[in-house]
Amino acid sequence: MANPGQTSQTVPATRDSPASPRSRALAERLRAVIGDGKVLTDPAQLRTYECDGLAAFRVRPGIVVLAAHRDDVVHTVRLCAEAGVPFVARGSGTGLSGGAVPVADGVLIVLSRLRAIVSVDPDNARVVVEPGVINLWVTREAAPYDQAYAPDPSSQQVCSIGGNVAENAGGAHCLKYGFTVNHVMGAEIVLPDGDVVHLGGTAPEHPGLDLLGAFVGSEGTLGVATQITVRTIRAPESVQTMLVGFHTVEDAAGTVSDIIAAGILPAAIEMMDALAIEAAEAAVRCGYPEGAVAVLVIELDGPQVEVDEQFRQVAQAAEARHAFETRIARDAAERALMWKGRKSAFAAVGRISPAYYVQDGVIPRTQLPEVLAEIGRLAEAADVRVANVFHAGDGNLHPLILFDDTVPGAAHDAEQLGFAILDLCVDAGGSITGEHGVGVEKKSKMSRQFTEDDLDTMQLVRCAFDPAGLANPGKLFPTPRLCGERPGVHTAADTHDPALGEVF
Ligand SMILES: Cc1cc2nc3c(=O)[nH]c(=O)nc-3n(C[C@H](O)[C@H](O)[C@H](O)COP(=O)(O)OP(=O)(O)OC[C@H]3O[C@@H](n4cnc5c(N)ncnc54)[C@H](O)[C@@H]3O)c2cc1C
Repeated sequence: MANPGQTSQTVPATRDSPASPRSRALAERLRAVIGDGKVLTDPAQLRTYECDGLAAFRVRPGIVVLAAHRDDVVHTVRLCAEAGVPFVARGSGTGLSGGAVPVADGVLIVLSRLRAIVSVDPDNARVVVEPGVINLWVTREAAPYDQAYAPDPSSQQVCSIGGNVAENAGGAHCLKYGFTVNHVMGAEIVLPDGDVVHLGGTAPEHPGLDLLGAFVGSEGTLGVATQITVRTIRAPESVQTMLVGFHTVEDAAGTVSDIIAAGILPAAIEMMDALAIEAAEAAVRCGYPEGAVAVLVIELDGPQVEVDEQFRQVAQAAEARHAFETRIARDAAERALMWKGRKSAFAAVGRISPAYYVQDGVIPRTQLPEVLAEIGRLAEAADVRVANVFHAGDGNLHPLILFDDTVPGAAHDAEQLGFAILDLCVDAGGSITGEHGVGVEKKSKMSRQFTEDDLDTMQLVRCAFDPAGLANPGKLFPTPRLCGERPGVHTAADTHDPALGEVF
C-alpha cells in the first residue's frame, strides 16, 4: 500500500542498531507474560513494520507485539507503562500520514490478528468487532440483513476498523452518511496505563462528556481500541450512479455546488480532473468520456421515487453547466466500472509518474473553482504536475503531486507544493486534513490551523488520558510535549530540560 516516492526529511531512515538494554529487558518480560511467538525483536522482522502507507517516514521499532487477544494488549501496555516505554498501535498500516510509524526503541502493537466479529445484531443495527477487522467485512456481515456499514474509505478492502476509528476515516459516501465518528457507538479502550475502560455503548446517546467522540480521530494518542461497536444502516431501496463529462473544471465544480444548493444530498459526488482520468484509463481502462477535462461520478440512493426525481434534477443541473456527456449505469457491472476508475485513481497515478505524493485538505465546496485554479497556478510555478481526484461534495481535495524521485530535490519540491496547497485550504476556511489524519506528516501544520490556546486545550485532553505521554508520542501535535503533574498556566518555576520537549 506504499505510495511510491513519498518524502520527508523529518524522520531519518533507521539503521540496524542493536536493541537497547531497556528494550531487551522489556522483550524478556513480554515473552514471559504473553508468549514467545508474539514478540518480535529480530531486526529483519522489525523492518516489515517500519512505516505505514506514507513510506517516506521510516523508524524501526525496538519490539513488535503481534497481539492475538485483548489481554495481550493490556499486558503489553501495562508493561510499557511500568518501564516508561512508548508504544504505537497499528492496524493494517494503510494510513497516509505516518500515524502508525513506530517510535525508535518503542513497542509497536500490531492488532491485525484481532479479527473476530464479536456479534451481529440486525434488529438493533449493531455489529461488534475486534479492532483488526477489515472495514468491508462489516458490510459483508450486515448484507444478509439488507444492511451495510456506511463509512467506505477507498482502502476499505484492507484497512481496519481500529485504524478507521483512530483516523475518523471517511469515504465517498460520507457526504450523505457521515464519517466514522457518526457510526461508532461504543469502544473498549486500553488506556495508556493498562486500565480497560468502555466508552459509549450500544445506545444512540449517552449523558455526560462525549469521551468516545474525543477518542475517535485521536490517532492512537489516547489509548488502544480493543473492541468497537458500530451501527449499520439499512441498504437503500434504489441506487443510481451517473458519470458526467465536462470540458472545464469550473463547470464540473459549479455543478457540485448547484446540486447541493438545490437541496439534493447525493450519496456521493466524486470529481477527477484530466490528469487523474488519464492515469485511471492507463491503469484500469474505465472508459470515461473521451476529451473530458473533468468528470463527476454522482451516486443517488434512497426510495425509488425519490431517487428518480432527484436524478432528473441532477441531470438538468449538469446540462445547465454544459456537461457534454452523461452516462447512467444500467446495471451493477456498469456501476462498478464507473467506481473502478475513481477508486483506483491513487494507485493509477503510478502509471504516469515514477513517484507521487498524496495530499489531503478540505475547502468549502463553493470555493472549488477558485482553489483548483490556484492549485494549477502553484503547480505551474513549481513546474510540477498535479492530478486532482477528490470527494467534491465534501470539498475534500486529494491533490496527487507527481515527481521523478531520481531527480535530486524533486521529492522536496513536491512536499513543499503539498504544504502550499494546505495553506490555501486553511486560507479558504478549510482544514489541513479531511480524512487521512495529521500523523507525523502534518503535525507542523497544526499551528497553521489552530491557535496555541486551541492546541493547549487539546493537549489537556491528551494529558488526562495519557499523563506519561507514552501513547503514540510525536504524532498529531506540532511540538513534542510531556504532561506535567500540573496542567495549566506555566511559570518560570516550570523550567525543565528543553530536550525533553515542552512540559504541559
Ligand atoms: C489507496 C489508499 C486509499 C485510501 N483512501 C482513504 C479514504 O478514502 N478515506 C480515508 O479516510 N482514508 C483513506 N486511506 C487512508 C487509510 O486507509 C485510513 O486512514 C485507515 O483508516 C487506516 O486504517 P489502518 O487499519 O490501515 O490503520 P493504520 O495505518 O495501521 O493506523 C492508523 C492510525 O490509527 C492508529 N490505530 C490503529 N489501530 C488502532 C487501535 N486499535 N486503537 C488505537 N489506535 C489505532 C495508529 O496508531 C495510527 O495512528 C487510504 C489509504 C490508501 C493506501
